[in-house]
Amino acid sequence: ARAQAMEIDSSPSVTYADIGGLDSQITEVREAVEDPLTNPEVFDTVGIEPPTGVLLHGPPGTGKTMLARAVANQTDATFIKMAGSELVQKFIGEGARLVRDLFELAEERQPAIIFIDEIDAIASKRTESKTSGDAEVQRTMMQLLSEMDGFDQRGDISIIAATNRFDMLDRAILRPGRFDRLIEVPEPNDEGRTEILRIHTREMSLDDDVELAALADTTEGYTGAELESLSTEAGMFAIRDDRTQVRMVDFEDAMEKIDRDDDTAGTPIA
Ligand code: ATP
Repeated sequence: ARAQAMEIDSSPSVTYADIGGLDSQITEVREAVEDPLTNPEVFDTVGIEPPTGVLLHGPPGTGKTMLARAVANQTDATFIKMAGSELVQKFIGEGARLVRDLFELAEERQPAIIFIDEIDAIASKRTESKTSGDAEVQRTMMQLLSEMDGFDQRGDISIIAATNRFDMLDRAILRPGRFDRLIEVPEPNDEGRTEILRIHTREMSLDDDVELAALADTTEGYTGAELESLSTEAGMFAIRDDRTQVRMVDFEDAMEKIDRDDDTAGTPIA
C-alpha cells in the first residue's frame, strides 16, 4: 500500500521557468521553503523561525503541484507526493500509519519535500455528525500535526500541502507551528495566460499568424491545465489537416471543441 499511495521523484525536472503567471507565488514559495533549506543560518541570525508548513490554495489545474515540484528541483530534494484521499483508509490506525511512513521515508531521503495534495480530505471542518469515520480521519490529521511538531529534530524536510477547498478547511491546521504560511494560487490573468501559452507552445511549430496575446484575450477563465490541453488539441487539428505548422484557426477549433466537451461533461448519455 505504501508504494501505491506515494509518488517518489528523486529528481523532479519542473523548473520555475516552466510556470507561467505566478511570479509572486514563486517568490513566496522560495522564501518559505527554499531559503530555510539552503540558508538556515539567515533565520538563526535574524532570530525567527522559518514557516513550518506551507499551504497552497486555489482552483484545480493552476500550478500548485508544479510549484512544489519546482522547489524540490531547485533544492535538489526528493519530491514525495501523497493525496489526502489516500490517507483516508478503511482500517483503524491505517491513515496514521501511512503518515508515519511518509515522514520516515522523507527522513531517509532528505533533503525532501513532502507534498500532500487535497489536504481537505483529512482536514475539513467537522460536520455535525460525529461518525466513527470522522474520528479516524481526525486521528490521521493529529498524527500529521504531531510529525510536524517534531520537525526541528528531523533535518532537511519541508512540507507543502494543497487544497481547492480552502473554505472547507478546519482552521486549526493553520495555527502557528502548523500550516502557517498561506499562498494563494489563483486562475491566471491575461498576462499569466499569455505566459502559460508561450510555455506550452515553445516546442510547437507555430505559423506566423498565431498571436498568443490574442489567444489569452479569448481564454478568460482557462486554467494553466486547460491552456495546456488547448495547445495540444490545436496541434491535433493541424495534424488532422496534414499540416506541420499550427495556425490560429487550429486554436479556435480547439477552443470550440474544449467548450463543447465542457458543456457535455457530466451530461448523462441518453
Ligand atoms: P490540482 O489541484 O488539480 O492538483 P494543481 O494546481 O496542482 O491542480 P498542476 O498539477 O500543477 O495543478 O497543473 C496541471 C498541469 O497544468 C501542469 O502539469 C501544467 O502542464 C499545467 N499548468 C497548470 N498551471 C500552470 C502554470 N501556471 N504554468 C504552466 N503550466 C501550468
